Amino acid sequence: MDLFEYQGKQFFASYGIPVSPGEVAETLDDAVAAAERLGYPVVVKAQVQVGGRGKAGGIKLAADAEELRQHASAILGMDIKGHRVELVWIEVASDIAEEYYASFTLDRSAKKHLGMLSARGGIDIEAVAEEDPDAIAKIWVDPVDGLTEERCRSWVASAALNPAATEGTVGILLKLYEAYTDGDADLVEVNPLILTPDGRVHALDAKVTLDTNSIFRHPDYEAYEQTQVRDEREEEAHEKGLQYVGLEGTVGVIANGAGLAMSTVDVVNEVGGRPANFLDIGGGASAEVMASALEVINNDPDVQSIFINIFGGITRGEEVANGIIEALGRVEIDSPIVIRLDGTNAEEGHQILAAHLSDKLQIQPTMLDAARAVVALAGGDAR
Ligand code: GDP
Ligand code: MN
Repeated sequence: MDLFEYQGKQFFASYGIPVSPGEVAETLDDAVAAAERLGYPVVVKAQVQVGGRGKAGGIKLAADAEELRQHASAILGMDIKGHRVELVWIEVASDIAEEYYASFTLDRSAKKHLGMLSARGGIDIEAVAEEDPDAIAKIWVDPVDGLTEERCRSWVASAALNPAATEGTVGILLKLYEAYTDGDADLVEVNPLILTPDGRVHALDAKVTLDTNSIFRHPDYEAYEQTQVRDEREEEAHEKGLQYVGLEGTVGVIANGAGLAMSTVDVVNEVGGRPANFLDIGGGASAEVMASALEVINNDPDVQSIFINIFGGITRGEEVANGIIEALGRVEIDSPIVIRLDGTNAEEGHQILAAHLSDKLQIQPTMLDAARAVVALAGGDAR
């Protein structure tokens, strides 16, 4: 899950990374009260999970209460790239001498953590990577070895920052690595990491993506989880305990297992269709789970047809078939359904389904046949 900037800063602060003092505010009055407590000048920052807020007018400096009211009222409710601003973060304004970039993420192909550091911060790192790739100093860290202070120092040296920033940056990067690994993050990004005129280094922005599979190790992440912005479909699926990702297409996809769900999305694309979602019902395929999955997909107005792709393993074919039939008895489904059921006891499953087939419910023998049929039903040109 992606954190809001203010949560990212709380997360950073808990690992000792210096950030500006600040407070969140939902209303204009709260924003003013926060600024009075913090002391002017302050920065008003739109809390939306999208980059480039500064350019979009979502970050403004306020020297006094009058400016604060003006900016906070403009920013609260503002639309930034389709994200509505419901919250602002008011923080003590910093003087900036230089802006840097720092991040850690996983380099899957290298099977190592990748750290990136650049003296060209404050702007889009993708743009730097394109125009001036040498301006990004990279380090690959073996998770078993960890990041030693010695390696961190030579990494910082290779980024050619202002010498005044060296000590502060080394300290912050070691803590950032600790936050990234100990905090089970997939990404920590500080852009900009700033050097102030009086020689201090601190994080002025925070982008943090946490691995939700690690919540069992971090009970405090529940609080972040509760503020997640999901679209309505995702919210409903989440409440039902389903692994669901909303997509833009017209073919609803239900599969058991994330691997099969991904392959199903690929095959639908392959034959010229566009998946409306990715929905993994997990190992089992009980009536309960199947009915929930169908309900979520049925509530998506973009869905024109539904592909149920099940490979029986421990779950047997007849259980799956009974689950589907029972689910169909519970939920009134608008779109035609195409089923591919293979694996353990698939024959028995097919026999059970045979009595229920209609123009709204068909079985196809293979995944490819099923994909073609479901895409044709969605109005796509199945190849
Ligand atoms: P983003 O545009 O969404 O990445 O938001 P940032 O938090 O990175 O802010 C964008 C830019 O606003 C920064 O690169 C700074 O140049 C500027 N900015 C943000 N906070 C401050 C501040 O406290 N003081 C000053 N002078 N500039 C700031
Ligand atoms: Mn930024």
